Amino acid sequence: MGVIRIKPLIIILILIFLFMILSSDVFAQKKILVLHSYHQGLEWTDQISEGIRSVFPYNDKVKIFYEYLDAKRNYSEKYYDKLISLYREKAKIINFDVIIVSDNAAFNFILEYGEELYPKTPIVFCGVNNFNSNFLVNKEDICGIVENADHRKIIDLILKLHPNLNELIIINDQTLTGKNIQEELKVVLKDYKNKIEYEIWDTFTLNDLQNRLISLDQNDVIYLLVFNRDRAGNFISYNQGIDIIKSVSKNPIYGAWDFYLGKGILGGKLISAQAQGKEAALMAKKIINGQQDFREKIVFDKGSNFYFDYLELKKYNITENDLPAGSRIVNQPDSFFKKNNRYLLWGLAFLIFIILILIIIYYLKNKEKEKLDKLNLELEQKVKQRTRELEKMTITDELTDLFNRRHILDLLEIEIKKASRYNRNLSVIMIDIDFFKKVNDNHGHQFGDKVLKILSDILQQNTRNIDFVGRYGGEEFLIILPETDLDQAYLVAEKLRKTVKETQISGLESGITISCGAAQFEDDLGHQLIKRADDLLYKAKAKGRDRVEI
Ligand code: GH3
Ligand code: MG
Ligand code: MG
Repeated sequence: MGVIRIKPLIIILILIFLFMILSSDVFAQKKILVLHSYHQGLEWTDQISEGIRSVFPYNDKVKIFYEYLDAKRNYSEKYYDKLISLYREKAKIINFDVIIVSDNAAFNFILEYGEELYPKTPIVFCGVNNFNSNFLVNKEDICGIVENADHRKIIDLILKLHPNLNELIIINDQTLTGKNIQEELKVVLKDYKNKIEYEIWDTFTLNDLQNRLISLDQNDVIYLLVFNRDRAGNFISYNQGIDIIKSVSKNPIYGAWDFYLGKGILGGKLISAQAQGKEAALMAKKIINGQQDFREKIVFDKGSNFYFDYLELKKYNITENDLPAGSRIVNQPDSFFKKNNRYLLWGLAFLIFIILILIIIYYLKNKEKEKLDKLNLELEQKVKQRTRELEKMTITDELTDLFNRRHILDLLEIEIKKASRYNRNLSVIMIDIDFFKKVNDNHGHQFGDKVLKILSDILQQNTRNIDFVGRYGGEEFLIILPETDLDQAYLVAEKLRKTVKETQISGLESGITISCGAAQFEDDLGHQLIKRADDLLYKAKAKGRDRVEI
């Protein structure tokens, strides 16, 4: 039973597995044939391959096959016949999804044999010069990029940068490319018939060429097109070509292709092989993805930008301002910053680090200083406070808070000096509590102290703030009254006496009384003045106390 049920399930699983494999990328691999006109190692051709690779990086989804016609170096009919029969054999083995042809030789080859060798295979071309839309009559599935050097713009630029132009020397060769380019150029030159003198050099041995170059006028300008073959049929690489010219010529050289840039040409509106290859590969990619609309897809590449060589510009005193907007310059010396980029960055980082550390140190120090300052201020205030307290202590009586004996006598000396110098009135009152011993005896010494305090407050409160009240002895007080004559002093003493008498002291039924002796300063010494007041005080005592004597 179980076996019968499992069987269809296994079959379904196998079918799903097969479907997945069949629809997977492994089986969806695309094949592109890149058919180059020239040979591997030619910068132009290698750069086209690079452009193509930039669109199709190495992977299993798209496989690229390269073929090289090697037409720069081999151009006999015999070679060509053999080549075709070789490709005829090769074409039987692989079917391509798209063919990219570069340059005219391969383009012509595919136009003639494409249908036979690679039937129904879409074609993308690039690097084709002297293109004519008649080429594509009756052709399907073909699109591409025409290499259409912008001779007009380049010649205009030469005229602008070299207003004293004597003759334009056009160097070219007799290769298929050379001939095609010359065809294009001749059409443009018709428009410059009366404006410039020019010569086209396309048939020469290397010796000829050098001799001719030596004899050029200094105001001649060279326009170097393509120079890959001499009259003897020798192949000449781009580097060799420009080196030969540069070795003898001092005239400025302009170009239309980027493979001469940086090797000695001054500049030009340059066509880039890499751009051509990339553009063609993008078209091929669209074809593979089923997006290409072939009817519209012929692109004319006139070179995207003006390029110049900094060293050559210097040599011919051409400034950047003379150049067309958006021009790009190669061989430019690196700026100081660019050259020392790394060191400057490290230096800057180091500097910032040091500054940060300094800031932190400064901050910490400042904080410490702030702390110290605060502490100092507190200490200073404490010292001042203490000093004030000490000062007060030295002049104040502890019990009564009045001036002590020493200070009241000092004050008296000062007041006497003032009164005597300015001839002012000055009086003193000497006060003694009546029968104070009894208070002590009856209520105790502490109570006596309390009474002394109460009396002191009365004396303080009932005198002016320019008066000085001091404790002269145990229960004896001296009051200094500046600007006061004897009559006024008497009134003050009377007022004090009455106030004391009327003051109720709790614990003392009949309160206390005081006796006073008041005397006015009369050009005598301090102790004499006190003596007079003291004598009067005793007189008051003798007369029965609780009274004022003057
Ligand atoms: P009178 O002056 O009226 O003649 O009589 P008195 O009792 O006041 O006599 P005297 O002036 O000679 O006595 C002073 C008394 O004052 C002696 C002492 O016990 C008291 N005395 C002095 N200084 C203090 C003090 O600081 N505190 C207290 N409680 N008593 C003091
Ligand atoms: Mg006394
Ligand atoms: Mg007394």
